[in-house]
Amino acid sequence: MNLRLVGLGVFAFAAVFANAADKTVKYTMKFQKDPPLAIITIKLPDGEKGTRFTMPAWIPGDYFAWNFGNTVKSVKFTRYDEDVTMNRGRSVNEFYANESFDTVEYTVTPSRGNFSDNLLIQPNLIFVNGAGLLGWIDDTYSQPSELEAIAPDPEEFSISNAGKPVSNQVLKSDTLELIGDTPFFFSSSMLKHESTLHKVDHQFLGFGNIAGVNIDEFGAIGNKAAEEGFKMFGTYPYKNYTFWGHFGGFPAGLEHAQGCRLGLWGKNANDAASLIFHEYVHAYNVKHIRPKQLRPINALNIPTVSTLWWLEGGTDYLADVFRYRAGLLSKKELLREMSSTYNSMIRRGGQAYNTISLRDSSEKVWQTRGSQGFGGVSYYTKGKVVSFLLDLAIRRGSDNAHKLDDVFISLYKETGLKNPGYDEGRIRELCVEFGGEELGPLYDLMVETAQPLPWTELLLKAGFREQLTEIIDAENSDAIGRIIRSSYPDQKKD
Ligand SMILES: [Zn+2]
Repeated sequence: MNLRLVGLGVFAFAAVFANAADKTVKYTMKFQKDPPLAIITIKLPDGEKGTRFTMPAWIPGDYFAWNFGNTVKSVKFTRYDEDVTMNRGRSVNEFYANESFDTVEYTVTPSRGNFSDNLLIQPNLIFVNGAGLLGWIDDTYSQPSELEAIAPDPEEFSISNAGKPVSNQVLKSDTLELIGDTPFFFSSSMLKHESTLHKVDHQFLGFGNIAGVNIDEFGAIGNKAAEEGFKMFGTYPYKNYTFWGHFGGFPAGLEHAQGCRLGLWGKNANDAASLIFHEYVHAYNVKHIRPKQLRPINALNIPTVSTLWWLEGGTDYLADVFRYRAGLLSKKELLREMSSTYNSMIRRGGQAYNTISLRDSSEKVWQTRGSQGFGGVSYYTKGKVVSFLLDLAIRRGSDNAHKLDDVFISLYKETGLKNPGYDEGRIRELCVEFGGEELGPLYDLMVETAQPLPWTELLLKAGFREQLTEIIDAENSDAIGRIIRSSYPDQKKD
């Protein structure tokens, strides 16, 4: 087996401390094709011992308790290469040993979450989203860690993320969270589009069913999203960014620490723009702008987050605004998107929208499969509509001096990776700061209660009205309404 170390260029996170070799937890991952399994070994630093091995209950971005202990097929504890007897733990995700150990070897079966494969083993493709595969010993989750993944057969799996013939992939980080949040794959073939935007490397990788795919077209869409991010926020919240484009893969997207995984079914890049922009906006909103409960990630205990509607619905709204600014949507199409989202919410939600608030939909998502919300109220759909309405109301309340962008930008400045994350009341405070006192009760009405949204009223205050599936200019709007509607979604006066 060729053990040449590669891939560090792309995946060098915050540097591991110079003398951290002693403290680094070493993970090795191998693969078996029949039956498909990943074989993972965790070795503690010399001299360290543990008694408990834990698998994650959930993974970042997929708000459902998958309990990955269920994917574990076998566990073996050793100390100085001698077997240590296992004691099954109290919960499905915890495994205890009778005595202390320094190494655990376990196998996991392929699994898929709501948005991505965690482990996919096909004849010519292995895809890994490590968050669902990597357990930890005692409290080493936040300890410097290193993962070396080794392809089963260099003849068949000749390419890794680095895009060069390799047989292994090494990820290093000062926490396991970052390693788990960096997908990688081994494949017999791959397409790659590379660019440097504002001195930061971006790449769009294509794997899976890539015949007939023009990767440059996908890369160009990704770059448009990244340009909008930089234009609005002023910096990139990552050292480099990768779009992992799995063609023919599970059709959903999942944000990651320095990139996103996309399940792509068409060869037409424009058809994927909505998904690409949504996942890209997560680089800012979710991966950087995060509530306290999600920083750091507690992979064993599920957190209660009341603003998932902001993290998903807000992201989806901003992604559409970005598509408009990038020239991929006309203003008419952007407004039609808002109208159709609102109407599908009314049509599909029925009574649920009169009984379950956005807060409830966010907090109780764990009780329902699907990671969309709770009780039939999607925090994607309603969260997007509410973000649009908050945007209009902030414009109105500030005489068109401010917009929802300002809330995003303030959160971005306040919640860096080194900070604990935002307080969940902060979004309301910022809406009031930029849109005036009226935004407080409006926020409460739309987020904290299940009352009907003041859709028609807020549209009119921004100079609009709805006509069938279109949002058009209202004839009876006042002067400020006319100014807002002509400048929306930007603030340039016409
Ligand atoms: Zn999302």
